[in-house]
Amino acid sequence: MRSRWSDADAPPDLLDLRVYSSRLLGAEPSLVLWGGGNTSVKRSESDFRGDAVEVLRVKGSGSDLKTIERKHFAGVRLDDVRALRAVEMLSDEAMVDYLRRALLDPDDPRPSIETLLHGFLPHRHVDHTHADAIVALTNQLDGAGAIRRVFGRRLAVVPWVRPGFALSRAVAEAWEADRSAEGVAFVNHGLLTFDDDARASYERTIALVSEAEAFIAESARAARRFGASAPQPDAELVGCAATAIRGAIAQPVVVEHDASPALLSFLADPGAAAITRRGPATPDHALRTKGWPAFVHSSADAGPEALDRTVRAAIDAYVREYEEYVQRHARPGTPRLDPYPRLVLIPGLGVFAAARSSRAARIALDIARRSLAVQRDATVIGEYRPVSEGALFEVEYWPLELYKLGLAPRPLPLQGRIALVTGAASGIGRAIAERLAEEGAVVAIADIDCDGAETVAAAIRERSPQPRAALSLPMDVGDEGAVRDGFVTLSATYGGLDILVSNAGIAVVSRLDDLATSDWERSIAVNATGHFLVAREAVRLLRRQDRGGSLIFVSSKNAFAPGAEFGAYSAAKAAETQLARVLALENGDAGIRVNAVNPDAVFRGSKLWSPDVRAGRAAAHGVAPHELEAFYARRNLLGKPIYPEDVADVVAYLASDGAAKITGASIPVDGGIPGAFPR
Ligand code: ZN
Repeated sequence: MRSRWSDADAPPDLLDLRVYSSRLLGAEPSLVLWGGGNTSVKRSESDFRGDAVEVLRVKGSGSDLKTIERKHFAGVRLDDVRALRAVEMLSDEAMVDYLRRALLDPDDPRPSIETLLHGFLPHRHVDHTHADAIVALTNQLDGAGAIRRVFGRRLAVVPWVRPGFALSRAVAEAWEADRSAEGVAFVNHGLLTFDDDARASYERTIALVSEAEAFIAESARAARRFGASAPQPDAELVGCAATAIRGAIAQPVVVEHDASPALLSFLADPGAAAITRRGPATPDHALRTKGWPAFVHSSADAGPEALDRTVRAAIDAYVREYEEYVQRHARPGTPRLDPYPRLVLIPGLGVFAAARSSRAARIALDIARRSLAVQRDATVIGEYRPVSEGALFEVEYWPLELYKLGLAPRPLPLQGRIALVTGAASGIGRAIAERLAEEGAVVAIADIDCDGAETVAAAIRERSPQPRAALSLPMDVGDEGAVRDGFVTLSATYGGLDILVSNAGIAVVSRLDDLATSDWERSIAVNATGHFLVAREAVRLLRRQDRGGSLIFVSSKNAFAPGAEFGAYSAAKAAETQLARVLALENGDAGIRVNAVNPDAVFRGSKLWSPDVRAGRAAAHGVAPHELEAFYARRNLLGKPIYPEDVADVVAYLASDGAAKITGASIPVDGGIPGAFPR
């Protein structure tokens, strides 16, 4: 690991400098990840009366070192912190309460749970990371011995203690016992360096970690293990596995996948299942990934059906094992977390992370990469031995950490759901895709217009806190192969499907006696066959996944009340409506609901209304083309125009649990058309 320090970039102000070097640490995923690690600086500030006071500026709980700013450092009065050095014991709750009262500004973020270990040391700068290389060295039967082998007496060592008051005391005692130590190694946890100079403290972290890395690299050469390269997995099998994972987990989850060569080669090792079962690199990981992954013993060449069965069996076994684990350690009042794995490992296919949002799945996957790397490195050094199961449970069910998770906003109605919308690059399809994303779903934007689809997907991603909230899928719904490919990509990206909105359509205007056969066929191909092809793939996927689903067809008022000179369109739309009803009949047994919405005359953002179509429909109704919107608005009972958002509202409702008992329905979104009664 190289130093990223640049004197030219280092700012003069102490707190700015602390921000700068914290970000340098945050830039290395093998040092800290997703809010891990913390840093501090001690300096003089003015309190609210203007008096000078010594302050510990320490990272606030939950902020991330790679993007940290000045405002993320909580200011704690150093006198108050140092007063605790003489205290023998302090509960988590009492410590949190004490630190809250010691804040210089009551509006500062909650100071890190590791605040006291920064405050108990005299140095101006303190850097604490969860360095993989140190964690790998200490995850051994004799973790302290491994540190001695590499560093001699240069590092003080503290055994595993859950972060909080006791760890802070242990660190202070270790340093006070040997004030010449260059840093402190925390067994199963990480590294601490300190200095009055910001650069010296940062570079000591880099130097110590580099030494540990060199030792691991040397051990790996000697061990000759985990070297085999594995071929990239087949996308269809990856999708199949992801779908089976979603099917076996009885709550909505998004599945993210990684098949990097390093992971595949680790999973191919015959010892991988046993090593990963022992626990994560550091107990903290359990909050995001659970204590261990589900491991699927399956050969990729066994085919999709066998893979599906083994994945489901592995997850069922995991749930039983997890419930026994909770049973072994829970005390009265321990809250119950769901028993499903966050990680599923499949040799030959890679690592799958399943979580309630794509952000949480992404975090779990990032952590899994680190944990697996540590497990591999620890194995080449000796034998991987993380903390005991009891210590792991203590962290996973730690009230303070659960409190952190509890602060997360309430899940959105479609959180964890996966939607695919066809014809989503514009008009009604776009409004629906945006609406489903707002409700928390991740959305595949399928359209024949690739650029348009990517524009919509990019706009959704920009607004969403989820990094992969939307995906553009090139798809001509009339092309069987393209539809199939689209669903393979969907499964490989998100893990499956919950909501299909079959919306893509075209308009063909002509009297039937003037209609060319090719125009008739074009309308049938997109407006009828297109819905069939997409729905067939969706039903196959939903049935394989076996967790119900919702199919919603965007049909038309014309299905019930056709328009003259709109025959090819109206007949195809009637076919689409009938298709939806038959799908409802055939798939209720699998919990798949199938409904249609029947809008009338939606203009805004729509590509359906080409100048030709507009002129044709205007002539049919005896009005001028520019009067067409007003004409359609006037003719419905409410006298109102219909917008894409009106259709999106009804689709979002049909996709939600609020419509859990509705199937086989057609819901008009037309302002009320007397001629279309009864429906
Ligand atoms: Zn830590």
